[in-house]
Amino acid sequence: MDYEIPESLRLMQETIRRFVQKDLEPISQQVEEEDRIPEEVVQKMRDLGLFGLAIPEEYGGLNLGTLGECLVYEELTKTNAAFRSRIGTSNGIGSLGILLDGTEEQQQKYLPRIASGEWTACFALSEPEAGSDAGNIQTAAVREGDTFVLNGRKHFITNGDVADLATVLAVTDKEKRTRGGITAFAVEKGTPGFTVGTIERKMGLRGSHTCELIFDNCRLPVAQVIGGEKMIGQGFRTAMRVLDKGRLTMGACALGAAQKLLDLSVDYAKQRVQFGQPIARFQSVQNMLADMGTEIYAARQMLYHAAWLRDQGKTVIKEASMVKLFCTEMACRVADQAVQIFGGMGYMKDLPVERFYRDLRLYRIFEGTSEIQRLVIARELTRD
Ligand SMILES: Cc1cc2nc3c(=O)[nH]c(=O)nc-3n(C[C@H](O)[C@H](O)[C@H](O)COP(=O)(O)OP(=O)(O)OC[C@H]3O[C@@H](n4cnc5c(N)ncnc54)[C@H](O)[C@@H]3O)c2cc1C
Repeated sequence: MDYEIPESLRLMQETIRRFVQKDLEPISQQVEEEDRIPEEVVQKMRDLGLFGLAIPEEYGGLNLGTLGECLVYEELTKTNAAFRSRIGTSNGIGSLGILLDGTEEQQQKYLPRIASGEWTACFALSEPEAGSDAGNIQTAAVREGDTFVLNGRKHFITNGDVADLATVLAVTDKEKRTRGGITAFAVEKGTPGFTVGTIERKMGLRGSHTCELIFDNCRLPVAQVIGGEKMIGQGFRTAMRVLDKGRLTMGACALGAAQKLLDLSVDYAKQRVQFGQPIARFQSVQNMLADMGTEIYAARQMLYHAAWLRDQGKTVIKEASMVKLFCTEMACRVADQAVQIFGGMGYMKDLPVERFYRDLRLYRIFEGTSEIQRLVIARELTRD
């Protein structure tokens, strides 16, 4: 086994680490308070190529591979989670459908714009009646000659308000649904009949907006079907392939935040004095630090291994769900222990621990809840 991270990825990791420390961390509290990322910081993320991590070089991306992407996300989530979220949908769920199944024409048109960060992409699957049960979407696209007419509402769509392009899943055959009756469309901002509705008020992840998308007789040429004519009805398969990969990168996000919380907790435990000595000398506090460190170590090994497997072309459905389940649940346990180690200060908004605690809670819910990950893992384990 070779556990060395390749030199090129290590250099990338160091670049991102410096960027986080110098440019992102100093404004992380400002982003929380203002609920927005300053445009000049988004521009710096563009300049670093962060919008094109997963996109092939021929389209202007960095083509880092799964492990490389995970390493970048691990660094980026050591600060306010909104920064990662701003690029996350473009690199992942928003553009991956086009990358995996798009026509040559769609790839040529959209991927360079997304890779450069000129355009942001989002992914619109969830609806009020269809969360975990994604096959139950009600948004419908009816064919009229060479166009589809889209009607329906999506909700909880990350980056919906800043997106220039949305991957939208709609029912094209009510009888077939997930078995050939759901189609993925590339819908551009400004298409008549497509508007952004309510921006949700959330527990955390301030600086990243979660929106409603409304389709009211929105007319789309057949050319906007992701993959073209032959992919009509195949969109659910595309969506599931997109989400498979997201499970690994989500694990990396949880891992980065957990590592940051451990680092903060160790520093605090060494300098906070009670009963005449640093609280790091108390065995109860040591136990918490030890458990946090052990879980983080385990999470990192499984994440890197699964990412490496995927980069070798292996199928990682079970492993990706295991990574998302373990890393996100682990990070929430770590966040809870970090609040405990910080005592009352852990509950105060003056320090970032409280923000991490709220932001991390989301990771167990979106891109497939923990319960859905367990269903996937059990299904794979019991498959004949
Ligand atoms: C901040 C945020 C951002 C999001 N961004 C996006 C986005 O960009 N694009 C997008 O399409 N969606 C997005 N989502 C939606 C997200 O993917 C869904 O919230 C998630 O899939 C869960 O669906 P739900 O909220 O309807 O919960 P439900 O599916 O109603 O689940 C409620 C509870 O029931 C459990 N449950 C449901 N079915 C089962 C089952 N079969 N077995 C066991 N337990 C079950 C769940 O695990 C959960 O505990 C986002 C959500 C949030 C909160």
